[in-house]
Amino acid sequence: MVEVFVRERKPPILTPSSLPCLRNVATVNVTAGCALGCKYCYIQGYSHYPGAERVILYVNTPEVVAWELEHKRKKPQRVYFSPSSDAFQYLPQVQDVSLRTMAVLLGAGVEVAFLTKGFITRPFLELFADHVERVFAQIGITTLDQGLWRRFEPRTAPPYMRVAAIEELVRLGVHTTVRLDPLIPGFTDSDENLLPLLRALAQAGIREAAASYLFLRPQFAGHIQSLIGTGESVGADHTLWPYQEFAEGSGGGTGLPPDERAKRLEHLEALGNSVGIRIRPCRCKNPEFATETCGITGPPPSFRACSPTQATFGFHRSEPD
Ligand code: SF4
Repeated sequence: MVEVFVRERKPPILTPSSLPCLRNVATVNVTAGCALGCKYCYIQGYSHYPGAERVILYVNTPEVVAWELEHKRKKPQRVYFSPSSDAFQYLPQVQDVSLRTMAVLLGAGVEVAFLTKGFITRPFLELFADHVERVFAQIGITTLDQGLWRRFEPRTAPPYMRVAAIEELVRLGVHTTVRLDPLIPGFTDSDENLLPLLRALAQAGIREAAASYLFLRPQFAGHIQSLIGTGESVGADHTLWPYQEFAEGSGGGTGLPPDERAKRLEHLEALGNSVGIRIRPCRCKNPEFATETCGITGPPPSFRACSPTQATFGFHRSEPD
């Protein structure tokens, strides 16, 4: 059972994150910690992580954001939810604070981008319906399989609910993409898992997806190692994974070697193409071969004036030494 601790905080809270793709955008977390409790979640290693089963809710976030918008010399064009939590956690108090914060931003003409594995409830959809042009959604999903979902992300929205949310967002006209991340080798990256998922996503209206593989950070590796176990292939045997740095000093962890990652992600790209979904690898976590940002905060501001098909994707493999 997750305990919620209520706190107030002071401005500024609309701040960029240290992740390379979030450095130029204002971001906001309405909680420290996350009730969704994904087994692989990186925030377990962060200094402000309040511990398992604990969430600190910043109750005055909507008021502080309103104050900041009023007092900032330049309003942010877009705000991203949430670099180290999820705005759509199932807890009603969290949903309420997220909804009111997004309403403040959208009401002030500020765009809202989010990545979620949570519950996009009716009040959010009603809010987004009034601001379709200013909302950019990315839904994290790696499986339709109930067993895998329960094993790795037991408190997130069930896969069928996430696909239904995608359908609804697409129907509203919200720019909606998917994030296949973290793929877990030997579990969620098989064709048997991915093809039905990609077909369902294509049917729901998805045309673009970002993807990346699991990395284990030393601070929380133990939480997931017992779920993965060890196997004979380099894919399943995490004890053979080398430590690798992410892009631009944004940390690192042990994961599949770059060649193996690139090969598997290229295969995924081919699967995506077969159903009409363009897949691009996350550059932050695949700096060895990925050249494009994965669009975590939505398309660039000029997007509305361009054709979505102008977006560029693809891999860049370094020449071997
Ligand atoms: S939803 Fe995101 S922030 Fe929340 S536990 Fe899962 S990976 Fe972590």
